[in-house]
Amino acid sequence: MRQEIEVTGIVLYVSLVGEYDKRLVILTKECGKITVFANGARKPNSSFRAASQSFVMGTFTVIPTREAYNLVKVDVKEYFHDIAYDMEKMCYASYFSEFMSYYTREGDFCTDNLNLLYVTFKALLDNRVSNELIRYIYELRLMDIEGQGLQAYSCVKCGEKEGIRYFDAKAGGVLCEKCALELKVTSKVSDSLIYTLQYIVSTPVNKLYGFTLSEKVMAELAFVAERFRNEYVDKKFKSLETLSTLG
Ligand SMILES: [Zn+2]
Repeated sequence: MRQEIEVTGIVLYVSLVGEYDKRLVILTKECGKITVFANGARKPNSSFRAASQSFVMGTFTVIPTREAYNLVKVDVKEYFHDIAYDMEKMCYASYFSEFMSYYTREGDFCTDNLNLLYVTFKALLDNRVSNELIRYIYELRLMDIEGQGLQAYSCVKCGEKEGIRYFDAKAGGVLCEKCALELKVTSKVSDSLIYTLQYIVSTPVNKLYGFTLSEKVMAELAFVAERFRNEYVDKKFKSLETLSTLG
């Protein structure tokens, strides 16, 4: 008989299966992204009913099957219910799940990913930082965790630490004036933006959403984050398209 295992995770997506069941895609600390069937979850008296929703965080007891896992027990730590009451937050949370799913697979060790997603959903409900700022911070930090980080501390070409004032997505980060000239890079960025980028890639994850930006620096961050993602992430995200239609 196969052994039950206990994993800590967040539900990224839910889909309906047959008449009564649900299929959950869960990002877990221990096993990466796994598919879990919650049999009977749509029956009125099912103990899985409340827990088998998107964005739920908890401890899941599962049994491996040939191709996936079956859910045995759930102990919910956080439902993140309120995300569902706000259309825009719902779209952002779906995008954060989709972006996480793009980077993760079964067998990965995902402690950093899970911590990031958890504090990001918390920040989304906190209302202290704008949804848009949360998005750019999340994207850049997750890319950094996945080894596609933006180099923000020294010139990507020559290593110079002083006078870094330019950004180029293709080069992979910030540039000094001399290298920017050589590479014909013209996107100049402010010191505040450089400092913001350094903060995003290096601060402990629980402090990640502890700042706000002026409109000017926010516009710079949006420019840099979008260029950077477009350069290295080769996928169109459905939730992002929905988000752009909300305006
Ligand atoms: Zn340089």
